[in-house]
Amino acid sequence: MKFIADLHLHSKYSRATARNLDFENLYYAAQIKGVRVVGTGDFTFPAWIEEIESKLEETEPGLFSLKRQIAKDIDKTIPEKCRNPVRFILQTEISNIYKKDDRVRKNHNLVYFPDIASVKKFNAKLDSIGNIKSDGRPILGLDAADLLSIMLDINDKGFFVPAHIWTPWFSMFGSKSGFDSIEECFGSLKEYIFAVETGLSSDPPMNWRVEDLDNVRLISNSDAHSPGYLGRNASVFNTKLSFFHIRQALEKNDLEKYQGTIDMYPHQGKYHYDGHRKCDICLNPATTARIDGICPECGRKVTYGVLNRVQELATRPEGYLPENRHGFKSIIPLADILSEIFEVGPKTKKVAGYYNRAIEILGPELGILLEKSVQEIETANVPLLAEAIMKMRTGDVNIDPGFDGEYGKVNLFSRQQKEHLKGEKYLLFDLPVKKDKSKVKAKTKVKKVIVKKESQKQKRFKKKSATKQPVKIQTLLSGLNSAQQKAVESSARAMIIQAGPGTGKTRTLTAKIAHLISKRQVDPGSILALTFTNKAAGELEKRIEKYVPKTKAPVLAATFHSFCLKLLKEYKGFNAVIVDESLRISLIREAMGEKIKKKAAKQVDQMISLCKQNLLSPDDDFK
Ligand SMILES: [Zn+2]
Ligand SMILES: [Zn+2]
Repeated sequence: MKFIADLHLHSKYSRATARNLDFENLYYAAQIKGVRVVGTGDFTFPAWIEEIESKLEETEPGLFSLKRQIAKDIDKTIPEKCRNPVRFILQTEISNIYKKDDRVRKNHNLVYFPDIASVKKFNAKLDSIGNIKSDGRPILGLDAADLLSIMLDINDKGFFVPAHIWTPWFSMFGSKSGFDSIEECFGSLKEYIFAVETGLSSDPPMNWRVEDLDNVRLISNSDAHSPGYLGRNASVFNTKLSFFHIRQALEKNDLEKYQGTIDMYPHQGKYHYDGHRKCDICLNPATTARIDGICPECGRKVTYGVLNRVQELATRPEGYLPENRHGFKSIIPLADILSEIFEVGPKTKKVAGYYNRAIEILGPELGILLEKSVQEIETANVPLLAEAIMKMRTGDVNIDPGFDGEYGKVNLFSRQQKEHLKGEKYLLFDLPVKKDKSKVKAKTKVKKVIVKKESQKQKRFKKKSATKQPVKIQTLLSGLNSAQQKAVESSARAMIIQAGPGTGKTRTLTAKIAHLISKRQVDPGSILALTFTNKAAGELEKRIEKYVPKTKAPVLAATFHSFCLKLLKEYKGFNAVIVDESLRISLIREAMGEKIKKKAAKQVDQMISLCKQNLLSPDDDFK
C-alpha cells in the first residue's frame, strides 16, 4: 500500500519542544496531515519509553498503534474525512559531539529499532557512556561511527540515518563541523548508511549534484518540535506496512517501494542562504564569495547556508538529473498558504479557522496540497486557496530565502495579483470602494445586473407564450459583409472576431446563433451567449428570440456576472438576496439607530465593503 511516513519527530521531553508533543496529539496531527507512519522520537528518554510501553501496542511487525481505549476518545474529535489508521515506528535522535582528525565534529543521527527490547538494550548501553536522562535528544561525546556500531551490535535489523545532513552546526555535511563525505564520517561502516535525511533547507535536486550521495536514499522528515509541524516534510512508501518493509524499501534502491519525498521549498528552510540573522544580512553564495564571507555589518564571518555548502561538495552542475532518481514534490504548508492569503500569522485564530474548514470538507492537508483538483478545493470556499495551491504545484512561487536560523518567507501572490484575483472573484458580491471613477461606475453596473436578472426572467416567461416563425437563412445573412458571413457559417470550434465598436459584432453573434438554431438544428437551450454589458445581453436575447421555435428553451444570453449568479443559484442553492445600495444604507441606519446620518451610513457601508475585499471578518482586529 502507498503511504506517507514522517520518520523524525521529537517528544515533549526534547529541548525546545511543545508541551503537548505526546502520543495523543501526534495521533491526532498525523490524521489531520494525512501521515500514516510516524516516528516516536526520543526513545532514549526514560519517561518517554515508559509512555511508549504504556500507550502503544505492536500491531504489525515492528510498528505500533495507539491503544484502542486512548484512541477512541480522540477519534471523535477528528474530522470524518481525515480519519485513518496511524502507526508509530521506534525512533530517536542522538547529538554526537566529538573530535576527529583534530577537529570538533557535531552531527545528529537517527536510530530505528523494530522492537522495544532492542531499544532498552541500546538505552542501557548509552546510559553507561553519557547522560540520556536530561534531554529527549541526548548529547553524547561519542563518534557517530561508534554509535552506528553500537546499534549494529544490539540489533542489525535496526537502521541508522544521518539527520538533516546539510545544516551548518549539527550535521554530517555541515559547514561548521561536518565532513566532506559519508566515508570520512563513518569509515568502513559506510555501507550501513543506506539513507540520509536531506533536511528542511535542501531538496533532492540539490542533493543530486553530490556524487557521494548516489548510493543512498534521500528521505525527508519534519523534525517537528510541535504537533502542528508533523508532515511538513515527509517520505512516500509503497510497500507493506511493517518496520522491515520500510527498512527494505530504503535499503534496496527500489523506485516502486520507496517513491521519494514531499519537501517544503528549501528556500523556506532556516539555513538555505548565507548571512547573519542579528545583522539582518542575507546573502546568496555568489555574493558571499565576493565579500570573502565577511559580514558587511559586523565584520565577522557569516554563517554559510546549505546552498553554499552543497555547491562546495557538488561534483555536478545545477539541474543535474541522475538516472533512477526518486520523485519529489514541493509543498508549502497549508497554514503558511492561508497566512499568505489573509496576511496574518500562520498561528492566528483566523488561519486556524480556515484550516479547519478546509480539512473538514476536503480531508487531510497533504491530500489537499498534492491531490485535490481545483474544483474540489473550491468546494471548501476558502478565498484564493485553489489559486494558491495551483501556484504552489506549478512552482509559481516567490520565496525570500531563509538564512542563519531565520525561516524563509513565502510570497504566493503579488499585491497586484491578489487585488486582481479578489476583484474577479468577489465582483459579484461587493466591490472596492476606492474613489476611483472607473470602479464606482462598475458598482452601478453590478446593481443593474441584479435588477436585470429579474426582468430577464419575466421576459422569458412571456417569451414562452409568444409565437415564433422559423426564419429563412438568407434573411439571417443579409446585411452582413463577407467576413461576417464567413464567421456565421464557419463550423470552427473557436473563433475570435476582432473589430472596433459599432462595426456589427453583436449582429454577427446574433446571426451566428440564429444560424446554429435554424441551419444546424442546435438546441437553443444549450447555447450560452456571454456579453460584456447588460445592454448587449438584452439586445442579443431580444434579437434571437424570433428565431427560436416556441417549443424550445430560450438561448441564455447574459453577462459573465449574471451568468455566474445564475449558476450559484441553481447549483449551490445560493438564495440570498443581493442588496442594492439604498437597501444597504437603510439596513445600516436601522442597525445603528435612526439618528445616524445617511452620509455616515454610506461610510460604514464602504468600510464593510473594504473589509470584505480584504478578507476581514467580524472577529478580526481592524486596527
Ligand atoms: Zn537534529
Ligand atoms: Zn554580522
